[in-house]
Amino acid sequence: EGGIERHSYDVVVVGAGGAGLRAAIAAHEAGANTAIVCKSLLGKAHTVMAEGGIAAAMGNRWPEDNWEVHFRDTMRGGKMLNNWRMAQLHAQEAPERVMELEDWGALFDRTDDGLISQRDFGGHKYARLAHVGDRTGLEMIRTLQQRAVQIGIDVFMECTVTELLQEDQRIAGVFGYWRETGRFVVIDAPAVVLATGGIGKSFKVTSNSWEYTGDGHALAMRAGASLINMEFVQFHPTGMVWPPSVKGLLVTESVRGDGGILKNSEGKRFMFDYIPEFFRSETADTVEEADRWYDDKKNNRRPPELLPRDEVARAINSEIKAGRGSPHGGIYLDIASRRDADYIRKRLPSMYHQFKELADVDITAEPMEIGPTCHYVMGGVEVDPDTQQSAVTGLYAAGEVSGGMHGSNRLGGNSLSDLLVFGRRAGESAAAYAAGLEKRPQVDDGLVRAGEWSALEPFNAEEGENPYSIHHDLQQQMNDLVGIIRTASELEEALAGIQRLKERAAAMAVDGHRQYNPGWHLALDLRNMLLVSEAIAKAALARQESRGGHTRDDFPKPDPEWGSKNLVVRLDEAGTGVDLTEQPLPVMPDELKTYFQE
Ligand code: FAD
Repeated sequence: EGGIERHSYDVVVVGAGGAGLRAAIAAHEAGANTAIVCKSLLGKAHTVMAEGGIAAAMGNRWPEDNWEVHFRDTMRGGKMLNNWRMAQLHAQEAPERVMELEDWGALFDRTDDGLISQRDFGGHKYARLAHVGDRTGLEMIRTLQQRAVQIGIDVFMECTVTELLQEDQRIAGVFGYWRETGRFVVIDAPAVVLATGGIGKSFKVTSNSWEYTGDGHALAMRAGASLINMEFVQFHPTGMVWPPSVKGLLVTESVRGDGGILKNSEGKRFMFDYIPEFFRSETADTVEEADRWYDDKKNNRRPPELLPRDEVARAINSEIKAGRGSPHGGIYLDIASRRDADYIRKRLPSMYHQFKELADVDITAEPMEIGPTCHYVMGGVEVDPDTQQSAVTGLYAAGEVSGGMHGSNRLGGNSLSDLLVFGRRAGESAAAYAAGLEKRPQVDDGLVRAGEWSALEPFNAEEGENPYSIHHDLQQQMNDLVGIIRTASELEEALAGIQRLKERAAAMAVDGHRQYNPGWHLALDLRNMLLVSEAIAKAALARQESRGGHTRDDFPKPDPEWGSKNLVVRLDEAGTGVDLTEQPLPVMPDELKTYFQE
């Protein structure tokens, strides 16, 4: 394979978001020679966009807060489908991980007593989100990145991994290309941590950026790993709806945490009509009580605007469907009439600028128009809860690409903490595994040639459809048929549609050459999006109940039977589609069950 660029490490981390950076730091500190590969520039990962904060039961505002309450909130938010052990580790270790970020230089907002400030978010009983204004992700990335670079971790940026290389099913390295030159690169490594983030770019309206094409999900499946919870996609209730160029862009939940309310076109504060039985006892049922809560949280229950995201997104969807939406097909989010302008500008500086610059709306003076947007995937690589190892020896996953932690619905703030807790664990386990190997798996030359061949395939066809039109159709279908509200007939239509898109993709062609060629890059990403979309639609069709991020119009209630099992997705025998199986949920030990007895 004359002249292919080649490197060798103990641990390769794919992804430079919070999970990847934290994993790489842990692996390096455990003594592993470690590299990070990321397809955008360092610092551009999704994590940088995180606004609201990091959930951790530090008890700075509420001494009553502790890991047990955080664990309980997380499990209830996920409608008890979470892997209990992951939820436990996450709640126990998040405070330490936040303190450590502070030690490494992160500057969090403060309480009057000088402690790290914590803000309210949906589904969290106590104010729990450590934050830096509404730019928490930026501070987190800045801190982790600085540390990673300082301790000497090598970074391959603008480099996309397209294959995991294996010997006898064990990980032997990764294959990828430099986005700028189109040249290939092989990195030999016995341990790989996937930290590639989410899948949002398979949907038309999304808060996610161009990078989130489900690469890690697809790479894991192709290597023989399993995915769980893929039917659970989180639609964030509040994305921008206008102007069209920014449709889907996130409006942080902090707007509601800081006092913002939702109104329909009739001016009605409608969330009171949508309080589900499951959360009734802890949700205010009058405007008066809801408003008192902001100042007196002890004696009042939470406003219904702060129900978990799945509940709020469904309610907004219903109001819009019933014809009570805003002019541009959303609903109103109003903080202007509730807080003074100074407060809004101080607490929500990014939101203020986002609306001013992009929509010419002054959020201190008028309501925002918002609607649901595809935001996060709960589903991902099935991992051991303590080590983050997948079913493939040498392959680990952490962050949004892994599954189980959030069950059927993630609480806001629980992703950034997840990245830190499980990123660290993944990095440590990967380093320990690599160090314990007597003989490392070798990368066979044939595999390298296969990687090259596969990556160059879109150039082979003389004539064919371009990847953009296929991507466009996939996004439209996922939005229309696999969105917030689902039915069997639409999901079947989606699966048939994905088959046709796969046939079109098999015959697609790209123009030009390998130097910075976005069409080619999309062609490669599209294979992943199609595989992952099939996994989502298939699991969504199989799960005949409504739970968390998965709502079936034809099965509108949760079903206790379904509440005890996961759907597991693997690559099918032909290697082109997915197979689905059911698997019982791990059983929570009795001492943890006591937290859920009312
Ligand atoms: P990411 O940060 O998504 O990073 C993925 C990395 O993988 C990138 O470096 C990318 O280049 C790389 N990559 C992907 N594919 C490849 C490939 N094939 N080859 C090489 N590299 C690859 N969560 C919270 O807890 N609190 C919040 O306040 C919050 N706010 C949010 C606001 C917005 C607008 C969005 C979109 C999300 C928000 N979330 C929030 C969710 C949270 O930010 C993400 O879930 C989280 O950052 C994902 O981190 P990650 O490390 O798993 O992956």
